[in-house]
Amino acid sequence: MGLKFFNTLTRAVEEFVPLDPAGKRAGMYCCGPTVYDFAHVGNWRTFLFGDLVRRYLEFKGYAVNHVMNVTDIDDKIIKRVSEMNSSLAEVTGKFEKAFLDDLKSLNCRVPHGMPHATEHIPEIVALIEKLMAQGLAYRTPDGSVYFSIEKYRGQGRQYGQLVKLNFEEMRAGERVRHDEYAKEAIADFALWKARVPEDGAVFWPSPWGDGRPGWHIECSAMSMKLLGPSFDLHLGGEDLMFPHHEDEIAQSEGAGLQPNHQRFVKYWLHGAHLLVEGKKMSKSLGNFFTLRDLLAKGFTGREIRYALLQAHYRETFNFTLDGLASARAALMRLDECLAKLRELAGDVKAGDHAPVLGQFSALLDEDLNIAGAWGVIFEWVRDTNRRLAENSLDAAAAASALATWEKLDSVLGVGALAEVEVPPELNALLEARQAARKAKDFKRADAIRDELKAKGWVIEDTPKGPRLKRAA
Ligand SMILES: [Zn+2]
Repeated sequence: MGLKFFNTLTRAVEEFVPLDPAGKRAGMYCCGPTVYDFAHVGNWRTFLFGDLVRRYLEFKGYAVNHVMNVTDIDDKIIKRVSEMNSSLAEVTGKFEKAFLDDLKSLNCRVPHGMPHATEHIPEIVALIEKLMAQGLAYRTPDGSVYFSIEKYRGQGRQYGQLVKLNFEEMRAGERVRHDEYAKEAIADFALWKARVPEDGAVFWPSPWGDGRPGWHIECSAMSMKLLGPSFDLHLGGEDLMFPHHEDEIAQSEGAGLQPNHQRFVKYWLHGAHLLVEGKKMSKSLGNFFTLRDLLAKGFTGREIRYALLQAHYRETFNFTLDGLASARAALMRLDECLAKLRELAGDVKAGDHAPVLGQFSALLDEDLNIAGAWGVIFEWVRDTNRRLAENSLDAAAAASALATWEKLDSVLGVGALAEVEVPPELNALLEARQAARKAKDFKRADAIRDELKAKGWVIEDTPKGPRLKRAA
C-alpha cells in the first residue's frame, strides 16, 4: 500500500509519487523560522509536522533532501533590529542559535540544507529579473519592484490555487509593501523593497537601486536553487497558505523555469493551528509559551515532542499543561515496558519485527494518521506488559519487540529512557544548590531541592557527584 497525503493544491488525498523517475529521491521544502524571536509552541507544532513527514519518508526508504530556509531579513526583523538597537547579524545570529538548540531539544532531524536569505541576494535579484523579462514585475518610482497579478492572470495563469479568491474586489495595480497582509486581499506584492530610513544599515544594491528583498521571493529563490525548479513537497503552517505560498507559486511558475509545464511543487501540505489551553495563543492571555518556557517548567523535550505529535496534522490541536503531564505518564508507561524487555532480552539477537510495525505503517500511509498509530502502539504496550506479567515472552520475543520499537521510534523520535535529557536550566539549579551547600546556606539548598521536586526531578547522589533523575 502506498503513502498518501492530502494535497492542498488539489484538495484531495493523493498517492505520493515522487518526481524522481526511479521513485527513490524526494525533495521537500519547509518554510523555516524568521529569526527575530524565540520560536513558540505553535511554531514547533509545524516544525515537528515537517520532521514527522521527513522521518516517515525515510522510514519508507526515500532518500529525502530536506530544505528549511532561515528568514534572516524581513519586516519583523528590521523592526526588531531597531527596537533592540542592535545589528541585523546580532539579532538573527542570536535567535538562529536558539532555534537550532530548540531543534535539538525536540530531537528533530537537522535539515540537509538551511539556506539564509541574506546569502542568496544574487539568486533573488536574478529571479526578479526573470519576472521582469516575463513582463510580470514592474518598478515603481521609489525603486521598489512589484509582482503584477493582473499581468500574471493575463498570461492565462491562475492566482488563487491554494485558496479561493474573489477577483471582483480586486483593484488592478493596487500594491502592498508589507510581507504580511490582510487575508485574501488581492494586491500586487513587493519583490524588492526600496531602501527607506527605517531600514537603517540593512540594504543591498540591485539593478533597481538599494533595497532589500520581500519575504515571498526569498522562499521561491532558495527552494528552487536547492531543490530545482520543480520539486515534490512544500510544507508549512496553514497561515502561510495565503499570501505566502500563493505568492511563491506565482513567482516560481511565473518565471517559467519548470520543464514541460511541470508544477513548481507537486504536493502542498499544510499543518493546522494550535490552541493553548483552549484559546488562541497570546501574551496577554498568559498562554503564550516558547519551548524554553516549557523546559523551564521542568518538562523535557521528548515530553513536549510527544504532546505535539498527538493529533493529526490537519486538525486543530489543543495544547495544555495537563496534556504535557499526561505525555509524561504515557512515556513512563512506555519506558517501563521497554526496560523490562531489555532485562529479559539480554544479549539475544532479534528475529522478525512484531506485527505492530505493519499496523503502524498502514495508518501513517493514510495521510499520516498519527493518532491511530499511537493507538496501536499503546495497545501493543498493554499486550506486551500482560505477556511479561504472565511470563509468556521469551528472550528472543523480547529482543524482537525491542527491535520493533527501534523502527517505530525512527519515525516518532521520542527516544528511550536512557536518552532522557536534563534541561540545562535545571542543571544550573542543581549547580546553584551545590554552591549553596558549600556555602552552608542550607535553607537556600533546600528551597532549590523543593523547586526541582515540584518540577518532577529528584537529586540522586552518584560517585561522580549529584545528578538529576526524573521523579517516579
Ligand atoms: Zn516560505
